[in-house]
Amino acid sequence: MSKIACLDLEGVLVPEIWINVAERTGIDALRATTRDIPDYSELMRQRLAVCDRHGLKIGDIQEVIDGLGPLDGAAEFLDWLRERFQVVILSDTFYEFALPLMRQLGFPTLFCHRLEIAGDGRIAGFKLRMADQKRAAVKALKGLNFKVVAAGDSYNDTSMLAEADAGVLFCPPQNVVDEFPQFPVTRDYAALGEALEGAVK
Ligand SMILES: [Mg+2]
Repeated sequence: MSKIACLDLEGVLVPEIWINVAERTGIDALRATTRDIPDYSELMRQRLAVCDRHGLKIGDIQEVIDGLGPLDGAAEFLDWLRERFQVVILSDTFYEFALPLMRQLGFPTLFCHRLEIAGDGRIAGFKLRMADQKRAAVKALKGLNFKVVAAGDSYNDTSMLAEADAGVLFCPPQNVVDEFPQFPVTRDYAALGEALEGAVK
């Protein structure tokens, strides 16, 4: 099978992790997303400073994430897709956060980043594996002579969607729809599957 589907994680297969952490801890400052602070490293530095101020450690955040499941129908969609494509999940989250959710999705291949955890569980920092990793991964896979389709919901997916042979938006916010009219918009897994399957024969 020489076709690969690259999927974003949060907003496509699982809920937004930080928004749920904000809700369950009641810390509103953790609601900020790349829509508020476009520079992801700056956003992460701010999130970790907020965690420190409230004494939130990795275990507290993992506990919240443990309670989140994949989005309704996500596991079934992923199974369906894996019969038709090799699937790689490209996410700007961190392995330490994603693990409980990956277990519920049958451990698909995931390329993301790493956190630095201190001995007492404090999140001391983070290490982005590389800049613009989603686009770089798609480009590299194309270089291996795969046809690549990609799907995501937000700004940080648009360079990956543009690099892919076909890019599809899934449940995007309206401003992303307006700014990137070149990408088809889907709003449920049936439509997403049809768009990805139809894009490369
Ligand atoms: Mg997303």
